[in-house]
Amino acid sequence: MNLETVRKLIEGSLTPEDYVNSTFDKIEKFRNLNAFTYLESRDKVILEVKESLKNRGRLAGLLVAVKDNISVKGMPTTCGSRMLKNYISPYDATVIKKLKAEGAVILGKTNMDEFAMGSTTETSFFGPVRNPWDPSRTAGGSSGGSAVAVATDIVKVSLGSDTGGSIRAPASFTGIFGLKPSYGTVSRYGLVAYANSLEQIGPFAQTAEDLALIYGLISGEDPRDSTTVKERPIDGNSIDMRSLRVGLLVDINEASEPPVRSKINDVVNRLSDQGTIVKEVKLGLSDYVVPAYYVIAMSEASSNLARYDGVRYGHSIDGDGNWREVYGKTRGEGFGTEVKRRILLGSFILSAGYYEQYYLKALKVRTMLIRQLNSFLREVDVLISPTMPILPPKLGELIDDPVRMYMIDVNTVIANLTGLPALSVPVGEVGALKVGAQLIGSYLSDLFLISLAGTVHESMHGRE
Ligand code: GLN
Repeated sequence: MNLETVRKLIEGSLTPEDYVNSTFDKIEKFRNLNAFTYLESRDKVILEVKESLKNRGRLAGLLVAVKDNISVKGMPTTCGSRMLKNYISPYDATVIKKLKAEGAVILGKTNMDEFAMGSTTETSFFGPVRNPWDPSRTAGGSSGGSAVAVATDIVKVSLGSDTGGSIRAPASFTGIFGLKPSYGTVSRYGLVAYANSLEQIGPFAQTAEDLALIYGLISGEDPRDSTTVKERPIDGNSIDMRSLRVGLLVDINEASEPPVRSKINDVVNRLSDQGTIVKEVKLGLSDYVVPAYYVIAMSEASSNLARYDGVRYGHSIDGDGNWREVYGKTRGEGFGTEVKRRILLGSFILSAGYYEQYYLKALKVRTMLIRQLNSFLREVDVLISPTMPILPPKLGELIDDPVRMYMIDVNTVIANLTGLPALSVPVGEVGALKVGAQLIGSYLSDLFLISLAGTVHESMHGRE
């Protein structure tokens, strides 16, 4: 049911006090998962819900959790970093303005990998986020806190950002829906930049309907972000499973852990039983996509993160030494290991002589990948693969081995490199652990992908 909470609040069958109190009870119950970096006070939230119900917006009174790299006026935006530990945003991101205009109330900010660099929310200055289904394991990253807030039903919907899989990975590991929108359909104004050419803000939800609603509300052209596009996503209703053509990305499916692969095979078999035409397609480029992604992401990051120099905002040391010393110490203390690694590598990649060897080559891989996926998407309506090649790993398992950590992004980065929309839909469990399927569609087919995700979910779980 589409945001029943809003209906109940408007009808009066759920009071603002009961709604907010039960939300804070759940926050307390799941405190060990470490999903939040900041919470608004209970009294203030109750007041805001009451205030919001006076205007019957489509999200009237609805509590929403927001990843801590998206600006919400008056709240901290730490990006999971010591560097921004005390930074308070003076303005709302465009997506926040849009949600507030429909009556949403921002409950708080969620924990994330430092500057969104990671796949398991373990690089956060505030400690790792834990998986609700097995707290010894990761909930995925980098938007781990936003995913956990929805998976534990603290909130019905939340926002994350996805540069290389940061919405889809945690959606998959926690058993919920998460969308990385078509590049340019959601404004990045107010999102702290990590790698601009790759990232989008997107929603997490418990149902496909809620995902579509939030996506519809946050998307649209924005004069404050010149990369946003005028075109609106094409309508997604009325999918006829018998005329649908699905392309299974066989090589990345085969490279996944056996229990994950077998779940995806179940999904594909279920689809073909319903008459869907399933074609096997081979990525071929899969050895190159992770290196290309990291070369581009680190290059952009090294440039974006130059602004944290302790002068205008963020961590700053008191030093009477020369500016080089102050700058070096500020950055040395403010950033964690993974962020430093990426700034160093990014600066190296962009330096004279290496630029051609690494950066330009990565751009060529990106162009080849765009051509390849677009040509697949002329033959099929949607591509399917596991969202993640593995089940949620134990905390600590990958964090000291960056290359292994980077490799688990192999399925998700292809959507960021190409700008295509992609989502993760929950398709079942292996023991207590969740598995998600990734659907990738042609540019602007976001709403179609979301409807299809609803159908796939239903066919794996039955109607709820
Ligand atoms: N794991 C990827 C990275 O560290 C993706 C992160 C993201 O999407 N923000 O770059």
